[in-house]
Amino acid sequence: MVAVGECRLDIQLRPVSGVAVPLRRGEVLRIVQEEGQQPVSLNCFNLHDHKEHLSVGHMRREGFRTKEGRILWSNTPRYSPLAAILHMSQSCVADLLVPRCSAPMLEWLYGLVDHPNCQDILAECIGEYGLTPDDVHDPINLWLEVGVNHHGYIIRGATGHAGDHVDLLALTDILTVAAMCGLAHLLGAARSSYKPIRVQVFRHTIETEQLAKRYIQEYTGLKNQRTPQHYRNRSILAERTLRQVEGYQPTFYRVVGREIDVTFSPDEYLAIQRLRGQMGKTTAEVARVLFMRWYIKHRKALGLRYDPSEERSV
Ligand SMILES: [Zn+2]
Repeated sequence: MVAVGECRLDIQLRPVSGVAVPLRRGEVLRIVQEEGQQPVSLNCFNLHDHKEHLSVGHMRREGFRTKEGRILWSNTPRYSPLAAILHMSQSCVADLLVPRCSAPMLEWLYGLVDHPNCQDILAECIGEYGLTPDDVHDPINLWLEVGVNHHGYIIRGATGHAGDHVDLLALTDILTVAAMCGLAHLLGAARSSYKPIRVQVFRHTIETEQLAKRYIQEYTGLKNQRTPQHYRNRSILAERTLRQVEGYQPTFYRVVGREIDVTFSPDEYLAIQRLRGQMGKTTAEVARVLFMRWYIKHRKALGLRYDPSEERSV
């Protein structure tokens, strides 16, 4: 258990609302279930560059759900650790599949034209920092159990008990946004009513600072974790209409094929011939497919958060 600092913010979110909270590196955001079963949608932005924000799509590379010890990754080509999940109560199922609920969706599906929803609540929260409804991104759905079936995802319901909490350690300066899901009670979540949520911020300690530094050291340093200084175009459009840039020429990767001679034993050659028609038309095509399969199996790193026990879950 990491010792957090003094509590500098302690607010109760009344149904149905949210809050945007800036955190400095090493600080901890705590989201607490006051009564239980109230799903919470979470957004996160780099406090110094709003174009960098949480990417649940990239978090899904590590599973459809997230859990204690995992990282909140930012959008590519940044792919940078924004925060770490220091604590997540066992009964908090955190979903990464479902997009945020929104007013058009509620009107379309249920005929509800004036109903709370995550998109609008998140947008109202980030408006305090000059961001617009277009800046809301897909959230981490805390305390929401979701499965998959032949149609796609299926919401099974809200989870969590009174006192359950999630602690996020800021690994850089971030703006976190916590919103109570306005749709959840329709689906039987929160026992078909809204429940209050508590949001707290704890100041950094030497221990949280050092832990944040360790996460940063472990998960940064790749040449391809790019920042705007690496971009060909660093400017942000100030107008809404898109116009063709005069003389612009895209620069793509240069892929140069090269023929190499490979010698096979008679047995290998026969094995390759048996696979013709399944893996490729020619001997060379089959040999390429076999090599690529070998490469992926033996040369691929295990992944940032590889957990073999999860391969069959969800
Ligand atoms: Zn929602």
